[in-house]
Amino acid sequence: MQFNKFFKFDIKHKHKQKVITVGYALAVTFAFVLSLTNNSAVEASVSPEENLEYLMIENNVVNNISNPGTIYPEDSIDNIKSLFSMVNSLVKEKDFAKEITVEKGDTLISILSNLGLDRESANDIFYKLKKHYDPRDLKVGQKLFANTVINTQTQQTVRLNNLLIEPAAGERIIVSLDENGEYQVNKEKDELIEEVNAATGSINGTLGGSMKNKGVPTRIINNFIRIFAYSVDFRRDVHKGDKFEVIYENQITPDGKIVKSGNILYAGLILRKDKIALYRFENKNGDVGYYTEKGLAMKRMLDRKPMAFKNARISSPFGKRYHPILKQTKIHWGVDYAAPKGTAIFAGGDGVIQVAKYNGSYGNYIKIRHNSEFSTAYGHMQRFARGIRPGVRVKQGQVIGYVGSTGRSTGPHLHYEVIQNGRRVNPRTIKASAGENLSGRNLQNFKKMVADVKTSYKTMFAQTESPKVAQK
Ligand SMILES: [Zn+2]
Repeated sequence: MQFNKFFKFDIKHKHKQKVITVGYALAVTFAFVLSLTNNSAVEASVSPEENLEYLMIENNVVNNISNPGTIYPEDSIDNIKSLFSMVNSLVKEKDFAKEITVEKGDTLISILSNLGLDRESANDIFYKLKKHYDPRDLKVGQKLFANTVINTQTQQTVRLNNLLIEPAAGERIIVSLDENGEYQVNKEKDELIEEVNAATGSINGTLGGSMKNKGVPTRIINNFIRIFAYSVDFRRDVHKGDKFEVIYENQITPDGKIVKSGNILYAGLILRKDKIALYRFENKNGDVGYYTEKGLAMKRMLDRKPMAFKNARISSPFGKRYHPILKQTKIHWGVDYAAPKGTAIFAGGDGVIQVAKYNGSYGNYIKIRHNSEFSTAYGHMQRFARGIRPGVRVKQGQVIGYVGSTGRSTGPHLHYEVIQNGRRVNPRTIKASAGENLSGRNLQNFKKMVADVKTSYKTMFAQTESPKVAQK
């Protein structure tokens, strides 16, 4: 393209002089372009045919773009014609820009080979590239940009001038041919900017849907739900007209593309009977938690029904009951959920496996200690999940075993117990278990952060300034 401009420039300024002068200028121009092409391999020329549109010779009239209709003497026209045929025979290379979309089965080598590169050059690029980028990371649908030089007569690729790969937004891998004809690979990465965003809205339909309507990214929505999953029963506690509030980070490139959504700094739910406002805090050890504005750890709810089978019905509730096998009235210290054999059983909360063994009438039995206050127990399992043994740390929702009918049992079900301070309580009515509260220097830093967040978002989150906790 640069050549084009140069060409036009010359014509424009010489057209009023004698035609032979124009010819001389053109020849100089081509000599210059050819020298560029040979030495630096950066600029390639455009074929002279394309330039005829700028300088058309018709019925003794030489037209050029900036000065149409200029008439030149007839013998000069022949000079121009012969100049063009000379130029045509000299210039044989052409720049060729191509956008490549990675398709299924493509490899870097196959892409380079499709561009017309010989095996040796392709391998050379492959190995040089590998130091910065694993070519196997190419994804179907990803776009590459290549700039090759082709011979206009044979249509063969002469060389690859450069190749651009963007492994992620804001990241570029550039393969380019240097002055010595060697391929160089450079990696460029935009400095990412942390951008803080906020959103608030009424809940209408699902919480996730309502957040999405306000433009909250999916990743943030999922994290928001996870944060509250411990303390809110979404089906029972959240109603139409309740409100959500969220402050979160996005990592963006300098030109504003979201690379990824980051942390939720603040998550608020304003429910009919409750307002829960949680702030993220990372202490010096790198431990991250969500706390109320007073620095109290978020209350964590134990699962009421820790299993994969949503329709599991309660076959026997907690409390007094007539025992079908023993044929007497006894207290049932847990809740029985009838479910098909093999249904996955989850850890009811984060904790450490205390017991995992065959335990008399309980059959295959697991006990998890969640904290100093709460433990949960699971009975009659068909088997334990792989890796589950005493001392292993588990996360809430992690599969620990499968429904069975081992021990004293009349059919496949899960016997689930919640033990609070050593006493078995009804899993259906327990509220929550507390984590560790902030204190000392951590609490001071946390309170400073909360004050900052509140100042920044006072107008936006005006409603949260009047807590509704007292309304009942
Ligand atoms: Zn039971």
